Amino acid sequence: MTEYRQQQVELDIIGLTDKGDGIGQWQGRKIFVPGALAGERVAARLHGIKPGYAQAELIEVLQPLAERVPHFCPHTECGGCQIPVLAYEAQLRLKQQQVQAVLAARGLAAEVQPCIGMDEPYRYRNKALYAVRAGADGLELGFFRKLSHALVACDDCGIQHPQTGELVRRVRTWARRYGIQPYDEQQHSGQLRYLMLRHGEQSGEWMLVLVTLGEALPHVSELLAALSGMPGLTSVLQNINPARGNRILGPASRLLQGEPVIEDRIDGLRFHISPLSFFQVNPRQTGQLYAITLQLAGLSGQETVFDLYCGIGTISLSLARQAKRVIGVELVAEAIEDARHNAALNELTNAEFHVGKAEEVVPALYAEGVSADVVVVDPPRKGCDARLLETMLAMAPRTLVYVSCDPGTLARDLAFLTAHGYRLERVQPVDMFPHTLHVETVARLVRV
Ligand code: SAH
Repeated sequence: MTEYRQQQVELDIIGLTDKGDGIGQWQGRKIFVPGALAGERVAARLHGIKPGYAQAELIEVLQPLAERVPHFCPHTECGGCQIPVLAYEAQLRLKQQQVQAVLAARGLAAEVQPCIGMDEPYRYRNKALYAVRAGADGLELGFFRKLSHALVACDDCGIQHPQTGELVRRVRTWARRYGIQPYDEQQHSGQLRYLMLRHGEQSGEWMLVLVTLGEALPHVSELLAALSGMPGLTSVLQNINPARGNRILGPASRLLQGEPVIEDRIDGLRFHISPLSFFQVNPRQTGQLYAITLQLAGLSGQETVFDLYCGIGTISLSLARQAKRVIGVELVAEAIEDARHNAALNELTNAEFHVGKAEEVVPALYAEGVSADVVVVDPPRKGCDARLLETMLAMAPRTLVYVSCDPGTLARDLAFLTAHGYRLERVQPVDMFPHTLHVETVARLVRV
């Protein structure tokens, strides 16, 4: 096969992989071309040739798609965005089609609504995670190249808040000046592993979390001096993560300055957010996502509603304003502390929260005679556990609202529920992650 190495070929791109690479065909093989769009003809250089497929590098787009646009960000190598060169309207159509195709493959014929997009799909994220590694000029912060742990140095990013660049530069200057050791993955040594930044869109508050390998973080007072004057800096924390592997945050955080949480607001509700708690990363779209969720729940004020995988209680408290009683369930204890605190902060007394796995807590509640009229689930990518789905069937709520960040597991779980007495009534994608292939979907099921 080595004679093909470096061979240049012309390909028609017939589709995209779930990683966003263009797919071409050549001599009976699938050829994966990062940067090529479905519908284009490209010149590519083959490498990594295997019996059934090959990787290729894009050399030239010979016939560009009408919807091809220039990349909006100077960092084209980082791998964070998969479809930045596809016009935004076309991205939204692609996401709608993607959900439709994944549902159809499971025999679900529901019509998928057009994906709800952003007016201004840039600088939308409220959370940034910068890896810290040794670079050519010393300690460097950035993102990993696609499918690798090679760092692409980056202080600013086209989907992050404009102030992130300045915060990252200040931390880098401090770290270089005081000889802070960057993390070395091979040796599992060094001091600083990651920098996490979180921002409250409505409050303007910032949280900075320096993730270290061990307890030691020298020159903290110099760090705080370097950060002084940054507008909105509310919380500076150290998080200690001694474990090997890809997990970013460790279990324990230590407050270096200010408050242990930052605040944000959605649709008039206030939320305090801890470093370990999940919070939707696109605050301008989160209001839309929750409004749709609430609308599809169709509450009259008389219902008991379960909000499973509830995080800090964002959906729970939106529901609580329109329901009799809301029960939230979430795995992360710190998030449940936030949820209880947030209920009190918003003077909502009809929401209660339980720590634990939804697939364990819900069967236990049901065994005690607690049942729901409406259930909202918002699981992580792996979807709902079979034990939870079985309990929901037994409980037989009239309406289920499924908020999903993974169309594949959504389709799997919807196929199960529609085979057991539920009808799929509405499927609404919402674009929470412009320029990436991620798609968020809200589905409504009713008992037949
Ligand atoms: N609904 C919330 C959070 C959704 S993210 C919001 O919109 O902000 C999914 C949440 O599920 C995370 O907070 C995660 O910690 C939690 N989680 C993961 N596995 C879980 C499980 N088995 N049971 C309950 N919660 C779980």
